[in-house]
Amino acid sequence: RAKTLRSGGACFYQTEMDASVRVRRRLAEDLRSALADGQLRLFYQPQVELATGRRTGFEALMRWQHPVRGFVPPAEFIPLAEESGLILTLGEWALRSACAAAAAEPRMGRVAVNLSPLQFLQPDLPQTIATILAETRLPPGRLELEITETILMQDQERAQEMLGQIKALGVQVAMDDFGTGYSSLGTLRAFTFDKIKLDRSFLREIGSNRQAMTILRAVLAIGQGLGVPVLAEGVETEEQRALLHAEGCAEAQGYLFGLPLPPEELGLRGSAAA
Ligand code: C2E
Ligand code: MG
Ligand code: MG
Ligand code: MG
Repeated sequence: RAKTLRSGGACFYQTEMDASVRVRRRLAEDLRSALADGQLRLFYQPQVELATGRRTGFEALMRWQHPVRGFVPPAEFIPLAEESGLILTLGEWALRSACAAAAAEPRMGRVAVNLSPLQFLQPDLPQTIATILAETRLPPGRLELEITETILMQDQERAQEMLGQIKALGVQVAMDDFGTGYSSLGTLRAFTFDKIKLDRSFLREIGSNRQAMTILRAVLAIGQGLGVPVLAEGVETEEQRALLHAEGCAEAQGYLFGLPLPPEELGLRGSAAA
């Protein structure tokens, strides 16, 4: 579209680009002080077992309340943090906070924390995790780390080594956003996971799209064959829940079961244990 504009238009386009670059740069700068200024929090979204409806745990999701811009979604600020390297600080903070929250509240069950590619490249990551587990006294089996396949694609040998060290600590490893990358099946062949999280884009099309249903069944069959439970992301309706249950999907997460909420709103305290 930019091509069809005359010079004045092209100039305007240029200015727009500069503006968005400036906004990003400014956000990246703001992010640097966000943690120290208490603008970052972790919210927690429940995960449930479909056969029983029982809650198995929570995924920790980062939230940024910017003093001027208001809520900035992770899809915007996580990439910025990744580019600047700040994700190392933020990621370690998230890991420590989530482990501390779970250790303080046994009713939380398992807590899942997202790992960014840059974190996964740090040779001292296993040591960092071990230290945090020791500090917070969270039993390792209650921690699950979510990684995406892009993390594993650069250097497979090194990734194997890193995964092995992490799993040796006794923590669980989940493959996040399964089905969105370039080599999902190759990744499943090369690495062992404790859980497969099926990306929510699949569920969006179930019901309207025959291919989506076929692929869902195939993924569930693969999970079954490998002995790895599949969790469906983005479950919003009762129909989706019933269908996933009927198809033998083990776990689910989505607005139907609960939004991501701050720890004080999870309703874990009091007599009604779930
Ligand atoms: P993700 O790890 O795949 O997290 C699931 C995303 O789906 C979350 O978006 C969650 O709020 C959203 N979601 C959950 N249920 C539903 C539903 O029923 N419908 C719809 N439409 N969406 C649902 P969120 O919190 O905006 O996070 C987006 C992404 O940002 C995450 O995707 C993850 O990749 C990244 N992220 C979030 N927190 C962290 C973090 O602490 N560290 C790292 N490295 N990445 C994070
Ligand atoms: Mg995740
Ligand atoms: Mg995901
Ligand atoms: Mg996702």
